[in-house]
Amino acid sequence: RLITFEGVDGCGKSTQLKLAAQWLRGRGEQVVTAFEPGDTSLGKEIRTLLLAGEFVPVAEAELLMFLADRAQHVREKIQPALDSGAWVLCDRYTDSTLAYQLAARKLAEGAANLKDMLRFAECGVSPQLTLWFDVSVTVAMQRMKKRAEAGEKATRLDDEAASFHQRVAEAFGHQFEFNSGRITRIDAEKDINGVFAQVEQALEAHFSL
Ligand code: C5P
Repeated sequence: RLITFEGVDGCGKSTQLKLAAQWLRGRGEQVVTAFEPGDTSLGKEIRTLLLAGEFVPVAEAELLMFLADRAQHVREKIQPALDSGAWVLCDRYTDSTLAYQLAARKLAEGAANLKDMLRFAECGVSPQLTLWFDVSVTVAMQRMKKRAEAGEKATRLDDEAASFHQRVAEAFGHQFEFNSGRITRIDAEKDINGVFAQVEQALEAHFSL
């Protein structure tokens, strides 16, 4: 079973993924945690190329780099883990590509076959459940700011970044509207426990745990 954790930067999905993994393990389940981009040796190099800022890939190249990361991730880590009977909890997957590259970076226009490319990169593995951590861009940016001040992760927080994150957030909302069977919306503005209570409920409901 593949469960993906999605949302804008600062939505809290990574924290919740760790809690969900602990919770499932506590019930005797075998769990593998995963993230994108950068969870394989090749992916690590791709992540550095994407995020170090030394190169600024054009939008098309950036998309292909994220897809290369995903294909490697699926074949090298996700599929084998699923084959071994584990649950795989993955921090970001195809919905992030849809939101960041296709919607926010506006690649969707003029490329009808992009959805096929996204499916190609998944190598046949799609999530049974996606948890979407819905948070306003204002709250997300406050959290990012705190994180940056604590020296944990630097993020751009200017107006341009705000409107970019706004487009990303709207795109996630859109995907939820059209895939509400697969995607569960989590109110991510609550505190950590309040958010996790919803995660737990979603897992129990979706998998009859
Ligand atoms: O989730 P994580 O913080 O590891 O993502 C790293 C960065 O890559 C984030 O700042 C995110 O905005 C960006 N990203 C992106 N397009 C994706 C996935 C992540 O721009 N498809």
